[in-house]
Amino acid sequence: MDTITELLRGALEEVRSLGDGATASYIPELAQADPERLALSVVGPRGRVRSVGDEDAEFTIQSMSKPFVLALALVEHGRDAVFAKVGAEPSGEPFNAISLEADTGRPANPLINAGAIATTALIGGDDVDARTARIVELLSAFAGRSLWIDESVYASESSTGDRNRALAHLMRSYGVIDVSVDLAVETYFRQCSALVTVRDLAVMASTLAFGGWNPVTGERVVGESVARDVLSIMASCGMYDYSGQWMLRVGLPAKSGVSGGIIAVAPSQFGVAAFSPRLDEHGNSVRAVAIVEQLSERLGMHLLEPH
Ligand code: GLU
Repeated sequence: MDTITELLRGALEEVRSLGDGATASYIPELAQADPERLALSVVGPRGRVRSVGDEDAEFTIQSMSKPFVLALALVEHGRDAVFAKVGAEPSGEPFNAISLEADTGRPANPLINAGAIATTALIGGDDVDARTARIVELLSAFAGRSLWIDESVYASESSTGDRNRALAHLMRSYGVIDVSVDLAVETYFRQCSALVTVRDLAVMASTLAFGGWNPVTGERVVGESVARDVLSIMASCGMYDYSGQWMLRVGLPAKSGVSGGIIAVAPSQFGVAAFSPRLDEHGNSVRAVAIVEQLSERLGMHLLEPH
């Protein structure tokens, strides 16, 4: 075992005993996840992937899809058009808050549910399948392998997604969304239900770390300015209403999801992903937060630290 893998294994074992939190229950399928699962993966500049723990466990990407769909919207429409529909400010509110700008109905940022639904609604395609195909193709290019949708999680999300539908109706009433509510939310539910492993997520994070170039496949997935825009939003809005604390303690652009994953990006250095299903009160994985916090501290990764 090389020294980095050893370090990762040590980090994993240090957080294993953390037993707090609970799996997300508002999407019935997610409540069934094995709460003991724990995995960590890191991808460096030469595309070397190092993973420890339950590295083959598959889970749905959930909100970690949001930065990548933002990237796709930026590619398709450009920065000004995207940020005319959705803000770039941290909301300080929970991910599913019914909070839209008073006069315009604009959601605060693309990483809360409302903003993500508005961003997804911008992706081109005639129907849900065509739009989903485009999104899955991009997620796959970021991950370096073909991803697919977990149909039972999708069905579970769609049958319990009234709050997201309500958000979409509100945004449509303001003209923030100009496609049908169904088209917007069903595409969004499908995007959240793409299956990934911690390794896939680390490769995706590393592609952002290297300016949109996937260090494993050697493919340019998006341009540098798109990757930079996405990381900027992740830095201020990626960890729900813990985003400020996260920047303070960890200092890396990141995004979490209610399935228990977190991706974090050390620009030009590595992409990291951690996974463990039990969530804290903000909806972030208890053990994944602890492990990335610990790695950042040990490796001196805080972006605002003099290097
Ligand atoms: N599909 C989930 C929802 O919309 C995503 C939530 C998340 O991961 O934050 O509720």
